[in-house]
Amino acid sequence: MTDFAALRTAVSGPVLTPSDEGFAAETTGFNLAFPHTPEVVVGVSSVDDAVAAVAFAAAHRMPVRTLATGHGSHVLVTDGMLVTTSRLDELSIDSATGVATIGAGVRWGAVVAAAAELGLAPVTGSSTNVGVVGYLLGGGLGPLARSHGFSSDWLRGATVVLASGEVVHASATEHPDLFWALRGGKGGFGLVTSVELQLAPVPSLYAGALVFAEEHIETVLRGWLDWTRSAPDDVTTSMAVVHFPPFEQVPEVFRGKTLAMLRFALPGSATEGESLVAPLRALAPVMMDGVAPLPLAQVATIHNDPSDPSPGWSRGALLSDVDDEFASAVLAVSGAGTRGPVMVTEVRHIGAATRHDVPEGSAVGGRASSYTLSLVGVPDPALFAEALPAATDALLASLAPWLSPETNINFSGYPDPADYRRSWSAETFARLAAVRASVDPEGVFAYGLH
Ligand SMILES: Cc1cc2nc3c(=O)[nH]c(=O)nc-3n(C[C@H](O)[C@H](O)[C@H](O)COP(=O)(O)OP(=O)(O)OC[C@H]3O[C@@H](n4cnc5c(N)ncnc54)[C@H](O)[C@@H]3O)c2cc1C
Repeated sequence: MTDFAALRTAVSGPVLTPSDEGFAAETTGFNLAFPHTPEVVVGVSSVDDAVAAVAFAAAHRMPVRTLATGHGSHVLVTDGMLVTTSRLDELSIDSATGVATIGAGVRWGAVVAAAAELGLAPVTGSSTNVGVVGYLLGGGLGPLARSHGFSSDWLRGATVVLASGEVVHASATEHPDLFWALRGGKGGFGLVTSVELQLAPVPSLYAGALVFAEEHIETVLRGWLDWTRSAPDDVTTSMAVVHFPPFEQVPEVFRGKTLAMLRFALPGSATEGESLVAPLRALAPVMMDGVAPLPLAQVATIHNDPSDPSPGWSRGALLSDVDDEFASAVLAVSGAGTRGPVMVTEVRHIGAATRHDVPEGSAVGGRASSYTLSLVGVPDPALFAEALPAATDALLASLAPWLSPETNINFSGYPDPADYRRSWSAETFARLAAVRASVDPEGVFAYGLH
């Protein structure tokens, strides 16, 4: 048994073992299917805490993993040290440069709100409940993907505690290899304590969702996919087919129904937006029309992702292209009248700005792809071990002609070794392994499929 007395003295945040009060709350995040049980959890509240925790783990040969919000929990942690970052809540914006300094515990919602006051916006994901740092480490594809690219393209620097206990600042000019890896390489490089992120000027946003009834899903999916082929570069759209469960937490208007949600985001004027969205509005009778000028602070309402913790299972891939046969394959499994263990099937149109790498290069996977595919399971843990892997294996096999050879780690979800490897090109995968070996030769920061 490890003696944690010295760690408790060195760290000002909580240091808890499984028998301590508060352990379960500290180790459980957004995904309730993963109540982690590490040997110890350390709630770091400063860079000094982070250094002390990492030094202790390295000295005791304990693997270190990080929990920010738990949106990315796909594997149960049952050993070593779990470092929680929620207390690293620094957030400031330099109004002259539009660069935000963001602590590792900050969620997108706080950045969106602070930036909106200055007429700026972070290039955020669909849910502002997700943690900034964990998201950026995987790249990040959100409602401004086509106009603004991967969110990690906007990363300007990161402060990282390495396995040696050294604190380094990585940027395009300092530790450039590490910085390259942090922009999409995800994990196993160190503990990021804060990042600097360039915010974007977004003077106006025309955005929201169109909701269509079950009987129109096929027409809307085929029509939208066709529309995306000539969509302008600055508009980002996506479509989700959702089998809403009959739960009380689900708003009554959606409860128990299967609906198509077509999301639209244009950083531009209402006049331009209205003319662009008109053909989508005309695809079928619109049940609810929420596309309108949208205050930047309300960007999360475009997708309306769930914000309450629940058991979660997801898996995804990126797509090179799509056509009518692709639509048929999706409709066979997720269209009207179907009821399987997959609750949400979502396709997002990316490309345009996501195709252009930053001048200094970055590790992020999926630049060549044109669409993302996300499959979210019915939130019943009884389905997670077999039914969902089997159903999504079958669906992905039927979609093989359209899958990108290289995908993206934020969309992988379910820890399948093949999905994990495909999250980067073979060349990037090898370079990431080399960066890990140079900054963490002993493998203190456990990462991969564990
Ligand atoms: C509802 C929902 C919506 C989402 N929407 C999008 C989206 O629009 N676009 C998109 O690209 N992705 C999206 N994702 C995926 C999301 O970006 C990833 O799951 C991301 O890893 C979540 O980061 P987190 O810090 O919130 O979660 P956590 O589970 O706490 O962290 C995930 C991982 O990030 C790493 N990490 C986190 N913090 C640190 C740190 N300080 N230092 C080192 N490593 C760290 C660790 O490897 C950790 O295991 C979504 C996920 C959910 C559940």
